[in-house]
Amino acid sequence: MIRFLLFAVVAVALVLLALLFSQNPDWTARFEAFGYRLTLHFGLLVFAALLVLWAFGWIYFLFRRTLAMPAEVARNARISRQNRGYKALTQGLVALAAGDPDEADKQARRATKLLEDTPATLLLTAQSAQLNGDEEAATRYFEAMTEEPETAFLGLRGLAMQAIAQGDRRRLDGLLDRARKIRPNAPWILETEFDLSLQSGQLDGAQRAVKRLASRHLLTAGEARTRLALAETDSAFRAAEAGNWRKTAEHCRKALDEDANFLPARALSARAQIELGNARKAKELAGQAWALRPTAGIATTFLLAAKPVDISAKRAAITDLIQHNEGALFSRFLRAEAAIEAGDREAAAAAIDALPATGAPVGVSALVLRLDALRSRGVDPTPSALTGHSLPVEPQVCLACGTEHDRWRAVCENCGTSGSITLPTRPPEDPPRMLPPT
Ligand SMILES: [Zn+2]
Repeated sequence: MIRFLLFAVVAVALVLLALLFSQNPDWTARFEAFGYRLTLHFGLLVFAALLVLWAFGWIYFLFRRTLAMPAEVARNARISRQNRGYKALTQGLVALAAGDPDEADKQARRATKLLEDTPATLLLTAQSAQLNGDEEAATRYFEAMTEEPETAFLGLRGLAMQAIAQGDRRRLDGLLDRARKIRPNAPWILETEFDLSLQSGQLDGAQRAVKRLASRHLLTAGEARTRLALAETDSAFRAAEAGNWRKTAEHCRKALDEDANFLPARALSARAQIELGNARKAKELAGQAWALRPTAGIATTFLLAAKPVDISAKRAAITDLIQHNEGALFSRFLRAEAAIEAGDREAAAAAIDALPATGAPVGVSALVLRLDALRSRGVDPTPSALTGHSLPVEPQVCLACGTEHDRWRAVCENCGTSGSITLPTRPPEDPPRMLPPT
């Protein structure tokens, strides 16, 4: 709009000027140059001067553009180079995520060439070296990253993860100290502190790490309680190993305050109460543990606490125990075994019939043989002790690496994962029946 108005004003002025000169044809200018005498109409002179001014404006504009050209070309080349670099970086990260070592390596080289040593290219290069199995090269890149303030933290993290994988505790401690100075509350530092505290049995260190993770909303309240229960139970097992049963019971109580359904803590607390001479308390805790998950160890603890004096007292104790979890496979097995040991053929036959014949982790066929012997010879050939039974002892298995452990542990000794060791999961003992449509 403003341009149009300006144009209109200029056009009107020119028309008026032309009109003025055409009304006065005798306005002329005279020149004398190189011996020539020139007589020009004044209006023509003014228009010629305007024309020269206009042409000069254009020439000046073109001159400026030409001077600026090389800088602009260079700028465009830089932008294009950067764009190609970012594309290589993206493709490299995608290859890393997809676990494609060759592609990651190729894109890492391309990104480094195009973008030079930015934090992202250094990280990509180091991680692609790791993916290619070249830990030494990865270490070199991570070391290089620790020297620049903006990449130091990432480099330290890479080196720390390598130290964890190599099990180099001293190196890891040093790296954690350096990383803590940069960002003391980074999630991976707190997670590593939790794992290391558990591994070395430092309950307070583990508790501190959990509280800091929870206060930064990196753990839910439930997850924090599970972890605190894990740390307390670990301390309880350590105290039990040292023969300090009072301390064992105390740690178990704190663990169960955090997570009442934590089976290792409940089973161990029953055991600790026997050692402390509280048989009644031990039976109560063992019964609660049986309700969570029946195991051979809990049955032994219960029988030890019940101290049966003869076979009928043992059978009564077994009945007492299995009422906490009637339908469980181990309950049904114990009922059958107690009936055989007591010489009660009918009850034994009925209890064996109630056991699944195949695929059960308990020795059903051994029970059948014992019942057959009882029928033909009138005696049970292999009776267990008054505080014994023939339930199988199940291994504690690490869910992360599959290693079997002789007892429960907070941290897997094989793979270093915390909270991964548990009893093997069994298929449901009574699969739900399909009801016909009504
Ligand atoms: Zn493991």
